Amino acid sequence: MAESTLVIIKPDGLQKSLTGNVLTRLSETKLVIVGAKIKSVSRGLAEDHYRHLKDKPFFEEIVNYLMGHYHTNRVMAMVYYGEDAIQKVRKICGATNPEEAEPGTIRGSFGRITTKGIYENVIHASGNTPDAEREIKLWFDPDEIVSETLYPTKEISVSNKQKKRVWT
Ligand code: ADP
Repeated sequence: MAESTLVIIKPDGLQKSLTGNVLTRLSETKLVIVGAKIKSVSRGLAEDHYRHLKDKPFFEEIVNYLMGHYHTNRVMAMVYYGEDAIQKVRKICGATNPEEAEPGTIRGSFGRITTKGIYENVIHASGNTPDAEREIKLWFDPDEIVSETLYPTKEISVSNKQKKRVWT
């Protein structure tokens, strides 16, 4: 099934100049990039992104990590589209825990566990279809995606003259 997935090169990936390596590995999937941007991450966005983990003891640390408190306040967010995109990207990323990730995967090659016990694992990739939809809509506006058919959108007026396309 053709589907979309959100990929984020986290602040450690940018700080360590791993962008090229990560994109090269992801290009093996032959998926299409339909959205891409460099973004600074606010606390609100980081907390919303990780809201499924808000009861975990490491929640505050991973929010700080995504905001770039330990590296640089930038991430690269992308949307990949194609057949089995979610599973193909997750396979190349490797397991969440970099010590358990296969050595050839992105996380196995470049991830580490900090002395505070946080998995600094270079990359985020959506885990399943509902997560992918929620995350793509959280990180991207419809106008930033080069695909007409990803998810339904509608046009709203933001002022007398200006209109904007939003996710329905
Ligand atoms: P994934 O990113 O593989 O989808 P999760 O959504 O469960 O995994 O976790 C989000 C992020 O939180 C992980 O990528 C990792 O950086 C961090 N993390 C997850 N579990 C732990 C843990 N047990 N200890 C430390 N950090 C963790």
